[in-house]
Amino acid sequence: NGRRMLALKKSRGMFGYVAVLLLMVLTISMLFTNGFGSNIRDRRITYPQLLTMIEEGQVRSVAIRGTSLVGVTTTTTVADADFPDKNYDFETIIGADFIVTARQMQAAKLGKPLDEVSVKDLPFTIIYRQPLTTPWWYDLIPLAISLVLCGVMFWLIMRAQTGGNGKVMNFGRSRARIHDPNKNKVTFADVAGAEEEKEELKEMVDFLRNPKAYIDMGARIPKGVLLIGPPGTGKTLLAKAVAGEAGVPFFSISGSEFVEMFVGMGASKVRDLFKQAKEKAPCIVFIDEIDAIGKKRDGGKFGGGNDEREQTLNQLLTEMDGFEGSNGVIILAATNRPESLDPALTRPGRFDRRVPVELPDLQGREAILRVHAKKIKTEPNINYAQIARMASGASGAELANIVNEAALRAVRNHRTAASQADMEESIEVVIAGYQKKNAILTDKEKSIVSYHEIGHALVAALQSHSAPVQKITIVPRTSGALGYTMQVDEGNHYLMTKDEIINKIATLTAGRVAEEIVFGSITTGASNDIEQATKLARAMITRYGMSDEFGMVAMETVENAYLGGDTSLSCSAETQARIDALVVSIVKEQYQKATQILTDNRAKLDELAKYLYEKETITGEEFMNILNKKEA
Ligand code: ADP
Ligand code: MG
Ligand code: ZN
Repeated sequence: NGRRMLALKKSRGMFGYVAVLLLMVLTISMLFTNGFGSNIRDRRITYPQLLTMIEEGQVRSVAIRGTSLVGVTTTTTVADADFPDKNYDFETIIGADFIVTARQMQAAKLGKPLDEVSVKDLPFTIIYRQPLTTPWWYDLIPLAISLVLCGVMFWLIMRAQTGGNGKVMNFGRSRARIHDPNKNKVTFADVAGAEEEKEELKEMVDFLRNPKAYIDMGARIPKGVLLIGPPGTGKTLLAKAVAGEAGVPFFSISGSEFVEMFVGMGASKVRDLFKQAKEKAPCIVFIDEIDAIGKKRDGGKFGGGNDEREQTLNQLLTEMDGFEGSNGVIILAATNRPESLDPALTRPGRFDRRVPVELPDLQGREAILRVHAKKIKTEPNINYAQIARMASGASGAELANIVNEAALRAVRNHRTAASQADMEESIEVVIAGYQKKNAILTDKEKSIVSYHEIGHALVAALQSHSAPVQKITIVPRTSGALGYTMQVDEGNHYLMTKDEIINKIATLTAGRVAEEIVFGSITTGASNDIEQATKLARAMITRYGMSDEFGMVAMETVENAYLGGDTSLSCSAETQARIDALVVSIVKEQYQKATQILTDNRAKLDELAKYLYEKETITGEEFMNILNKKEA
C-alpha cells in the first residue's frame, strides 16, 4: 500500500515519520517481551531434563504443539484454566518419539511390556493442540518485520527528498521542474518593455537554437547569465522567454530548494541537476533566487557557518567549471541582491554576464499594461499612457496586478469590461495592498527628481571638459537612486586634468542647485552627490597635489589598490583641519558656479526638466537636440 503511505506522508508531513518510528519501537519491544523475554527463557528446559522430571514424577500435564511442548509440574502455581494458553512452568522442544519414550519409561517403572502401557497410563495428562509443526520461517518473523519497517522509513525519507514525484530510488535527486518547450510557451513578445534586457539575451537564444555554428566558429559562449533586478521586474519571465524562444527544455529550481533538511543533499542535488541538464542539452537551467545558496561565504567564523549551504555552493561552482558552454547548457540565475553574492560566483567562466533588469520606464509600463490588458475584457477607449504615468515606479508584477484588479473591480460592479476608472482605481489598491517600501513617486517628487537630474546634465553640458551625457532617467534604480544621469567619456581616458575634476565637482553639486533654484528648498536626494564631490575635492588636495596651498605633497596614501583602495591620512591635526576647510571652499565655489550656470539657463532647465518628467528616460541625443534648439 505504498500509495497510502505516500498519502499519509504528504498530508501529515513529519507525522508520518513519527508514526512509523513509534510503530517500530513498539513492535520490537513487544517481540522481545513476549517472544524471547527473560521470564520465559528461565522456563526453558532441555529434552533430557524433561525426561528426568517425568522419571521423578514431577510433571502433571503437558501440552504438545508439534515439536514444542509446554507443561506444568505437580507443585504448580499455574491455575488449570490458565494452562496451557496463558501460563506454564516449563517449555521445551521434544523429539518425535516423545510419546513412545514416555510409554517405555512407564512400562519399565511398572514392569509391564510396552504393549500394555497406553497413553492413558502415563503419570501426566497430555493435551494435544494444533498438531501443526512451526514452520521454519517462524523465527524469522520479527527480523522480517523490522526490516520491512526500516525499508518503509527509508522510502519515506526518499519521497521527502524528491518531492513525491519521480521514481523511488532517487535519493538526493534534484527537484528541478522541467518545462516542455512546446507547452505554455513564453516568448519575448510576452515580456513587454525590457528592450535592452531582451537584446542582451538574444545572443543566448541564438546560441541555443544553433549551437553548431558557434562551436564551429570556436566562439566561447558564456555559461552563466545573472539577471539582476528588483522583485517583480520579470526576471523569471525573461528566463522562461529565453527557453521559449530557443525552443529548448527549461529546468527551473529555486535556490532555497537546494538547502533542505538533510545534510549533503544540496550538493548531490546540484550534481544531479547538472547531470540531467547535460542529458537534455541544449537546454536552460534556471536557478531562481540564487542568493539563497550563493551568499558570501564567511569562512565559518561563527560556529562553522552554514556548512550545508557552502557545500552546495561549492558543488555548483565545481559543476560550472566542469562543463563547457559549448555543451549547450546555459545557466540563468536571478537575484535581487547581487551585492550579497559570493564573488566566486560572478568570476569569469561562471556567471560572467550580468543583465540588469530595471523597473520599466513610462513606455515600458504602457507596453506591460497593454500585454496584460489583452488577457482581460476592456472597454475600447482606455488611455494606457495615462495609467502608466500614474503608476510611475511600479514593477511589471505590480502592473500585471493592477490590470487584474481592474478586471476584478469590473466584475464586482457587474460590468462586462474593465474601464479607465477601474484601472486608475486599482493602482491605489495594488500599491496600498503591497505597502511598498519605496512607494510610487508622487508627482511632486518626480518633478523634483527631473529638475535634479537635468541640473546635473545641463551643468555638465555647458562646461567644457566634461564627458557627454549619455542617458538621463528618473526611473528608480536597483541601487536605490531615484534617478541618474549617465555620462560616458569618449575614448580611453586615463588622466584627469584639474579642470576636469573641478568641472565634475560643479556637475555633482548641480542636482542640488537645481532643486534650490526651482523649488527654493532642498531634499535628501543629493547625498550621494555630496559624498562624491567631497571625495573628489579631498583627493585633489591630498593625493593629486592640485591645491596651491600644499602643492605636490602626498598626505594620503592608497593602502590597497585592489581591495577598495582604502586610504590613510598622514599629517598633523592642524593640517587636517586646513584640508577640511579647503575642501569646503572648493565645493562651495563650484556650487556657486553651478548656480550661475543654471540661473543663466533657466528656460532650458525648465524645458528639459518638463521633457524628462514626461518621458522618464531620455537619451543624450534628445537632450542635446533640445539644448541646441534655437532659442525662440
Ligand atoms: P521577478 O522574477 O523579477 O521577481 P517575475 O518574472 O516573477 O518577476 O514577474 C512576475 C509577473 O509580473 C510575471 O509573471 C508577469 O505577469 C509580470 N511581469 C513582470 N515584468 C513583465 C514584463 N516586462 N512584461 C510583462 N509582464 C511582466
Ligand atoms: Mg522571480
Ligand atoms: Zn544627483
